Amino acid sequence: FIVSAPSGTGKTTLCRRILPSIPGIERSVSCTTRPPREGEVHGKDYVFLSDSDFDRMLAQGRFAEWAQVYGYRYGTLKKTIADSLKKSRDLLLEIDVQGAYTLRKQFGARAVTIFLSPPSLKELRRRLEKRGKDTRKMMEARFTQALEEIAQRASYDYIIVNDSLVDAGEKLKAIIIAERCRRNKIP
Ligand code: 5GP
Repeated sequence: FIVSAPSGTGKTTLCRRILPSIPGIERSVSCTTRPPREGEVHGKDYVFLSDSDFDRMLAQGRFAEWAQVYGYRYGTLKKTIADSLKKSRDLLLEIDVQGAYTLRKQFGARAVTIFLSPPSLKELRRRLEKRGKDTRKMMEARFTQALEEIAQRASYDYIIVNDSLVDAGEKLKAIIIAERCRRNKIP
């Protein structure tokens, strides 16, 4: 299950909220060259890599997908996906639209794509400002990027408007449960 959303949409909060209540699914931990934010834990939130380590792993062909987002690189390891398939566990990937596109091409309909949309652009701007994690310039860049991402939401299987954390969580959970009941997924 691939969840994409512009930053400030509440994707991480939402995914963390619903995961404990769904058995058999785990969150994919991505690699990134972005420095850790306060409170982020190496190996849990992200695997934080130096540029040269990322380059090396890229050259070794270890990424199933990777993308440059806001000046840093982010990638999902092939091993992360292979391990979850081996354990017959679903994987929830919180990745950007470029990564979603790459994995969709590789995995076809096995990858279920979900776009989490902010209730309005005004609200998105308000959330980005309130978050206060970034400089003004960074905030503007994230907002512009968000507009580009939102323009691509029609290529996703599902769109959830995150106007309430509780409702959006219920919807995400319902999508996961329903997808598992698809005829072609029952052995
Ligand atoms: P942040 O720095 O706010 O944690 O994440 C920035 C963006 O990078 C978000 O849109 C997030 O979904 C995306 N991202 C995180 N991990 C990955 C990944 O492994 N691959 C791709 N393509 N995007 C990622």
